Amino acid sequence: MSVTAVDWEAVRDEAVQYLQDLLRIDTSNPPGNERAAAEYLAEILAREGIAPRLIEPAPRRTSLIARLPGRGERGPILLQGHTDVVPADPAEWSHPPFAGDIADGCLWGRGALDMKGTVVMQLMALLLVRRTGLRPRGDVIFAALADEEAGGRLGAGWLVDHVPELVRAEVALGEVGGFTLHVGGHRFYPVQVAEKVGCRLTVTVRGDSGHGSQPVRDGAMAKAGAVLTALTRERLPLHVTPVAEAFIRALARAEPGLLGLLDPAREGQVLAELGKDARMFEAILHNTAVPTMISGGSAANVVPGSVRITVDGRLLPGQTAADFLREVRALIGDEAEIEVQHTPSHTEAPRDAFFAQFQEIVEEFDPGAMVVPYLLSGITDARFFARLGTPTYGFAPVKLPPGMPFWTLFHGADERIPLEGLLTGSRALYRVLERY
Ligand SMILES: [Zn+2]
Repeated sequence: MSVTAVDWEAVRDEAVQYLQDLLRIDTSNPPGNERAAAEYLAEILAREGIAPRLIEPAPRRTSLIARLPGRGERGPILLQGHTDVVPADPAEWSHPPFAGDIADGCLWGRGALDMKGTVVMQLMALLLVRRTGLRPRGDVIFAALADEEAGGRLGAGWLVDHVPELVRAEVALGEVGGFTLHVGGHRFYPVQVAEKVGCRLTVTVRGDSGHGSQPVRDGAMAKAGAVLTALTRERLPLHVTPVAEAFIRALARAEPGLLGLLDPAREGQVLAELGKDARMFEAILHNTAVPTMISGGSAANVVPGSVRITVDGRLLPGQTAADFLREVRALIGDEAEIEVQHTPSHTEAPRDAFFAQFQEIVEEFDPGAMVVPYLLSGITDARFFARLGTPTYGFAPVKLPPGMPFWTLFHGADERIPLEGLLTGSRALYRVLERY
């Protein structure tokens, strides 16, 4: 079959069927149970004469890896996705999250975007390479991974530590990027080239304990209150990284006011005007320290001698834990004890010719749209592959209409993917492999 003979209508129907089946396999993590999804994918691959490896570091926590040989003229390209999903509360959904309903031109279900939809696009791209007899210059590796949503230690993390030869690649395509971002009447496609790094803090404050009938004014509760107030009211200093700057400058072509975000004197004002949209911009311009859990006290009538606050810390690329601690101390003072949990990693992918091709590929399905580099405030499996020297681009192309903002669907209720998006995404990933 030649390339021009690809029947794209049939590809769409096939992709829709695969995704519908995958959405009906509940892989909520915890507990994960990715084995059923891996076995489903393995069956499809086996029918095409591709023998995948199933790897199960813990019972039912299965990852799948398949490889198609290239011409050996360059290193492999890795298409990596995860088959686990975050849990869903059916009460919040218009369609049941694990039914795979088709309605309003979309396939509905937990994982439609994050990221079984992408896994299916990657699978289709791989199958098309097989069927058309395409031989890219490097091998194509397809990895459907377990456990991403709970930290990846039983998925990508395990593979990188124990069987790196199966996943080591020259370049990887992964999640968070390639969706439509509507700004000021223009369409942008952020492609993740870097992500922040987690740095969890446990902040402990201490003071006199005592009887609940007698007020303690400067005890642990008061100090915890001061820490929480400082961390939730104040921002850590602005750091304009190259990726965030490129992203904001590109968006500013549609919304010139966004340029103020890059100016320490004006940033606060611009963020205030952005309302809820400010959160995403603040996250890519600052180290962040968000209190998420608090514990202390043993009885209603006992003033506790200590209170512990868990802080979800996230570092910008290039920032160290020491930099971060200095910034946090400047807000909360020196008295609190701070314990740090941090594994440094560096995930930045170059904005080179490989990156440049995404613009041409996106224009094929959305003429006039613009690809922009993106810094993700969260973390993905990209950080594990980075340890092998493999840069990851978040490129899971889906054209979304203005009424379907990606960030409300990602981990949110009514997650869904336009059927047409599943086709354009499969075709776009196939284009990447054609050019590889
Ligand atoms: Zn994901």
